[in-house]
Amino acid sequence: MTSKVYDLNEQTGKDMAQARATTSIKVGVVRDYLYNSAEEWRARSSIVQVLENDPVFDKSQRDFMSRTERYTRGMALTNRIYELQEQNNWSAQDTSIAIATLDEQLPIHLHNVAFQPVFNLQGAPSLVEKYGALIASRGIFGCYLQTELGHGTNVGRLETTATYIPQTREFEINSPTITSSKWWIGALGKTATHGVVQAKLILGGKDLGPHLFFVQLRSLKDHTPLPGIVIGDIGPKSGAGFGPTDNGFARFDHVRIPKDQMLSRFAQVTEDGRYQQPPHAKLSYGGMLYIRANMVTGGGWLMAKAATVAIRYGTVRRQGEIGPDGLEKQIISYPSTYYRLLPILSHSYVFIQLGRQLTKAFDTMAACLAKGDTSLLAEMHATTSGLKVLVSSTGVQDIEVARRSMGGHGYSAFAGLGRMYNDYLPSVTYEGDNFVLDQQVVRAALKALHSLFSSPKPDPSTLTPSSFYLRLLIPPVSAPLFSPSSEEWTNPTNTILLLEWRAALVVSDLAKNIKEPDAGVYQRVSKAVSEAFVARQVGEMIDNLKAQLPGEKEQMAVRNIFILYLLTTVETGLVDLLSFNVVRSTSGGDVTRTLRVAIRRLCEEILPEAIGLTDAFGFTDWELDSALGVRDGKVYEALWNRAQQEPLNKTVVPEAYEKSIRPMLLRGQKQAGVTMDGKAKL
Ligand SMILES: Cc1cc2nc3c(=O)[nH]c(=O)nc-3n(C[C@H](O)[C@H](O)[C@H](O)COP(=O)(O)OP(=O)(O)OC[C@H]3O[C@@H](n4cnc5c(N)ncnc54)[C@H](O)[C@@H]3O)c2cc1C
Repeated sequence: MTSKVYDLNEQTGKDMAQARATTSIKVGVVRDYLYNSAEEWRARSSIVQVLENDPVFDKSQRDFMSRTERYTRGMALTNRIYELQEQNNWSAQDTSIAIATLDEQLPIHLHNVAFQPVFNLQGAPSLVEKYGALIASRGIFGCYLQTELGHGTNVGRLETTATYIPQTREFEINSPTITSSKWWIGALGKTATHGVVQAKLILGGKDLGPHLFFVQLRSLKDHTPLPGIVIGDIGPKSGAGFGPTDNGFARFDHVRIPKDQMLSRFAQVTEDGRYQQPPHAKLSYGGMLYIRANMVTGGGWLMAKAATVAIRYGTVRRQGEIGPDGLEKQIISYPSTYYRLLPILSHSYVFIQLGRQLTKAFDTMAACLAKGDTSLLAEMHATTSGLKVLVSSTGVQDIEVARRSMGGHGYSAFAGLGRMYNDYLPSVTYEGDNFVLDQQVVRAALKALHSLFSSPKPDPSTLTPSSFYLRLLIPPVSAPLFSPSSEEWTNPTNTILLLEWRAALVVSDLAKNIKEPDAGVYQRVSKAVSEAFVARQVGEMIDNLKAQLPGEKEQMAVRNIFILYLLTTVETGLVDLLSFNVVRSTSGGDVTRTLRVAIRRLCEEILPEAIGLTDAFGFTDWELDSALGVRDGKVYEALWNRAQQEPLNKTVVPEAYEKSIRPMLLRGQKQAGVTMDGKAKL
């Protein structure tokens, strides 16, 4: 094929327009599905418009800012959001949408997502009545102080103490050692006025383990730390992530608080210092479950951004082989590129829908908890633990895969994915380290297995959604055998069943070998269990498409995305499926080939819709803040314009010239025996 000479810059716009023209789906219809309704989309869109037209929310300089500037800007954004809330009469929901669209890790998240829910869920009604309204309107600003320098995961070994003094009806909060210093606490370093402190409750010299206390940290007059409290910021974080958040440290020197500031909706201390146990050991998990449930939705939208940027760039970047039109091929057309990017698109569609379901389930559980009904807690705990691991591990991986798919320009800060990655990276650690949560998922799975088979007649109706796959183990077990053709793979019934078999078999195998498990078993089993749960949910999403998404083309496009999710999940689970002989060849050939071919064919079917499916997320250029993800496709112009803003370009000759570059050049010239008079040109 002869290659044509063409204007690369002009071609980007043409390619994007062409890709939009090729999309057969009605983008608005899919967008309303993603946002749950046209009303929710419109509400969100009008909020975004307000923000992007307000100079306070200008994002153009943030890649050039120091940490201190990013913190200061973050607080200005937050203050402006609440000003706008008042001016525009935004609801709490509108305001959280506004904050989420800023795409910044702000201290206010800790107030809204950690401090406030924990306080409301765990505080005694009288305490919530006293401070609830003030917290809701941010008349005081909170943080959640659990982690210490010496302990994170092992909450039972935290060293901060809260000793009850019956004579004065007070608790004394104390950090006895350097390792008992609270550390990593978001919004503590410079912002918070109050906090919920996790400390060991000491009654009459007896340690009753960690409990929560509401503690004022700073003066409401001048923001200085209260007597006995030393507070500061812990410093910069990896890859400059979480820049605007003041993760902080605190030490308490025998700080007294009134007795009613123990969060005692469940566990209580009587005036004379006796302990009253909570009705359920895990009641205090409520706040954490809320955060984890929200992480699924948040992760889904983040993957959506990564997919949008990389798929748009892949559509306009031409490189390498010459296609039939005489132009270099669009990089998205290379199988090795679309095979990396379309699964990310599928993850985002699945996690956005899943997050919505989970948040609803959380609200139901919270309503029950408020009435003292703990029946839904264990299931919620099992589900949110597994999904938190799955969504955060997948998200971290996907953002980096998307960034790498864009070659060198992906490494530019202007691509936006490096910033996104650094901010999202710690999600695998906070709210429960993923490797530790894996153990909890596995524990719940083994418990469900034992409970099912503890009865002489195991009853599948006793299984909860998170352990429904275990029904497959109830005798008579029909040994699974799958050797599907490429066409059969795309039947979701097959893939869902396969993923459920995989979970059932890895759990029962672990139960048999529990005395000598291998080192990676918790990750493997946890992944299999969570993926089986998600697969069944995806099956329901597919079944609901007809009712929830008008238009056959739209249903087909989203269905394909969901099926791609199932297929690629099966592909990553092949080791288990082959180990347990669930997938096997009847003809002696490579049984996995039909799966891989099915994935390729499906990707090729999805490709013409990829721009439409990413446009359906409805992101504006301001929201994406990526030179490579611009809506009109003109990535080279966007990169050029951004580079002109680089502060180093403000002067033609840098400051370092006189100080360092010139002396170095002169030294080198002298050593080489060449004398430059300033006019000569080498
Ligand atoms: C950006 C960021 C924000 C944070 N914000 C807050 C906050 O606002 N408030 C707050 O209280 N905390 C906060 N944290 C702290 C966070 O909750 C802890 O980092 C987390 O709980 C893990 O604890 P750790 O760091 O002490 O790790 P460790 O518990 O020391 O874990 C280190 C390693 O050991 C492994 N490990 C530990 N225990 C086990 C075990 N039992 N079995 C197997 N493996 C194990 C882990 O998998 C991990 O790989 C934040 C952390 C970060 C990074």
